[in-house]
Amino acid sequence: MNDTIAAISTPPGRSALAVVRLSGADAIAIADRVFRAPSGALAKAVPRTLRHGTAWDSDGDVIDELLAVVLLAPASYTGETMVEFTCHGGDWSAPRLLAALLAGGARAAGPGEFTERAFLNGRMDLARAEAVADVIHAESALAHRLAARQVVGALSTGLSNVAEPLRDLLAEVEARVDFAEDVGEAALPAHIAEGLARAAGALRSVLQGADLGRRAREGARLALVGRPNVGKSSLFNALLGEERALVAAVPGTTRDAVSERVALGGVPVRLIDTAGLRELAAVPEGEHAPVERMGIARTREELAGADAALLVLDASAAWTDADAAAWALAFEKPCVVALNKSDLAAVIVLPSSCVQAAPLRVSAHTGDGVAALRAALAAALTSRSTDDPAVALVTNARHIDALRRAQLAIEEAGRAACDAPGEIVAGEIRVALEALGEVTGEAASPDLLARIFARFCIGK
Ligand code: GDP
Repeated sequence: MNDTIAAISTPPGRSALAVVRLSGADAIAIADRVFRAPSGALAKAVPRTLRHGTAWDSDGDVIDELLAVVLLAPASYTGETMVEFTCHGGDWSAPRLLAALLAGGARAAGPGEFTERAFLNGRMDLARAEAVADVIHAESALAHRLAARQVVGALSTGLSNVAEPLRDLLAEVEARVDFAEDVGEAALPAHIAEGLARAAGALRSVLQGADLGRRAREGARLALVGRPNVGKSSLFNALLGEERALVAAVPGTTRDAVSERVALGGVPVRLIDTAGLRELAAVPEGEHAPVERMGIARTREELAGADAALLVLDASAAWTDADAAAWALAFEKPCVVALNKSDLAAVIVLPSSCVQAAPLRVSAHTGDGVAALRAALAAALTSRSTDDPAVALVTNARHIDALRRAQLAIEEAGRAACDAPGEIVAGEIRVALEALGEVTGEAASPDLLARIFARFCIGK
């Protein structure tokens, strides 16, 4: 890890500028083999100031006119001495400059190797290092906003608020365990259980953001609910803007729950077309009993993973028992109601108990009202907390998994603190700290680190 690495940090192709970086103990010496400036060698340059000069290859040919900046260890991105060159873009300047640096003694950096060094040198914890990759890979404005907050350490701060008090509690419990061996068993004092409850509460609020974080990354899940033939598939397609789900005049042709991604007002959304209520409506009115339960059970299953529901009603048909069942199910989630087929003569009369849901009139056929429906859905699927820059939202599945394990262990420790021996409480606190350490990187295995940094681009 003491060798000096080099890479092009900007994408290939035509651009005004490109960045080539070096990091390692020999960065300045290697750079000086390639760089010439009237102001002299980089070895004598004032750190963090730009030097204007030229780069030369080993044949004595000029490569480009460029700027160089020296960053001395430990005050650099990687924590090592670095040189960053800004040359011209295009297919040749940066690759020729890189080749010259490699000929001068540098090694080509692997994906994420600069960030990995930053982590290993204690410049950032693992959660922040991973957030750097998330910033680069963000697929939506919202995902980017949340990742950028983690780069500046919002999650790391949230977690140290959990881990620090846990470490203190652990030290105290361990001391009491040692002491108890001399004087016999003594119950743990009440403030241990109270401290554990506070830590669990702090972690719970970090995890509450996880759901919103997941929505930002993977897309919120929106389930379309309604009895057959109200136009769910048609509306699904109108929202997608493409012909995706199967549309048919025969009730019940939407065979499986279909899932597609669509962006609604900057929010990535996964639309889930549910099929469960078909079974319910296949039975004549009044004969529902067992089948009704099946249809409801299945739709409820399909709804279980959804963040919100879109209830579709047919404005051109009378209100039925199946609509009432769909209504009850859909409102188990935040729900938007669409009165579809509003291009036809209105027939439906909503029960008075349902009117306050302010249904939106739409037509999947003419497209009328679809834009307003998109806006209403985007509003239902986002939350004001994503707008609060102080809130760290856990967006990474690996983090969520580790934090849930930590949460369980803290709760377990809290229960044990009331009546179980101190060793058990200490054991659970250690499990919790270990799980938290997987997020910050204190307890990450080399294998895990390799997998994480493989996600990065070369040059980052
Ligand atoms: P699903 O069973 O709820 O998925 O309903 P479909 O999307 O398959 O539509 C059922 C029938 O209603 C089809 O014949 C559609 O062409 C028709 N339909 C859907 N939306 C509209 C609409 O907005 N206006 C009219 N006039 N017909 C529609």
